[in-house]
Amino acid sequence: MTSLLDKATERPHALTHRELAELLAWPDADGLFKAAYAVKCRSSGRRVAFRGLIEFGNVCEKDCFYCGIRKGNDKVRRFHMTADEIVRAAEWAHKAGYGSVVLQSGELTGETNAAFVEDVVRRIHAAAGDALGITLSLGEQSEETYRRWRKAGAHRYLLRIETSNPELYARLHPSDHSWERRRDCLRALRRCGYQVGSGVMAGLPGQTTDDLAADIEFFASEDLDMIGMGPYIPHPDTPLGKDIPWSPEAAKERLELGLRMIAATRLHLHDVNIAAATALQALDPTGREKGLLAGANVMMPNVTDNQYRADYQLYAGKPCLDENAAICRTCLERRIAAIGEEVMWNERGDSPHWRNRK
Ligand code: SAM
Ligand code: SF4
Repeated sequence: MTSLLDKATERPHALTHRELAELLAWPDADGLFKAAYAVKCRSSGRRVAFRGLIEFGNVCEKDCFYCGIRKGNDKVRRFHMTADEIVRAAEWAHKAGYGSVVLQSGELTGETNAAFVEDVVRRIHAAAGDALGITLSLGEQSEETYRRWRKAGAHRYLLRIETSNPELYARLHPSDHSWERRRDCLRALRRCGYQVGSGVMAGLPGQTTDDLAADIEFFASEDLDMIGMGPYIPHPDTPLGKDIPWSPEAAKERLELGLRMIAATRLHLHDVNIAAATALQALDPTGREKGLLAGANVMMPNVTDNQYRADYQLYAGKPCLDENAAICRTCLERRIAAIGEEVMWNERGDSPHWRNRK
């Protein structure tokens, strides 16, 4: 009998809901990771795409119960980088050969923010041209705003659905946050011509293996190009995180779950871009390399100025708080070579799934 791993390796979208749940609980974790890594090598080689991550502001209009920079956390010192600072960080990433940048912040809506981002994107695009990928991760916006930012030069957008289970979503957010609205934003982004990315947190309280299997089915049914997933890590100053006991064993379990999600997603979807999230590194110093060996093919080194990093803490234990971007670059290149992979310097690293669809 062909094993489930063989079946998943042979062709994409081959697994039923039950089989996805079985993969997520696969008894031989190393075997699972190796099978997913082989599929990743077949679709994008032994190469890692870099995105320079610019976390440009922690002011947020929303109040997600799990997030350290939620509007209700009054212990946070709020910041918002200037347009010049953001453009400078993007230019640094471009010159360093990163091929792509990601602009991320708390969610802000309204004309002032829409015009600010539009101007920043236009300036980065004017300086770097099409050689530099510009990804935005700025939450839920109107379709018109998404379209303006796309026209200004952004071409990828990351908006995690957080969980594909609307009931679980409702338990993690205040009542005016809507799962349906978030899903509709993903569809609006596709209509605007972005490469669309989404993802979930793994290890949320009350989340089951069935939920995680359904998450992977959601990625398939929405035909996503990029997946950015990470383990949920409690933040002590949040309603969800304050009472969750944390220990080295809990961190180990959460890491393994995050890796299993990467592997099962790779085995089901094959040609999407999958990021090895920074949250993996918060749980294990080599967490992101482990993510690559479990099927991820993208890394997002932080290029935000050090003075701001400590104020952008979504969860406890954020790594590299006092390392500048240049040190990160050297250290990452070495770590990637150590696992037999190479960095795709000066390449945008577009999603093969997006190219195949076109
Ligand atoms: N505000 C935008 C949004 O929510 O889409 C973009 C920035 S938001 C900080 C990026 C992601 O951080 C969220 O989608 C969420 O999955 C993740 N995040 C927030 N709190 C987290 C936590 N405690 N553990 C792990 N990931 C977390
Ligand atoms: Fe704001 Fe995003 Fe954090 Fe929710 S996850 S509170 S939208 S920054």
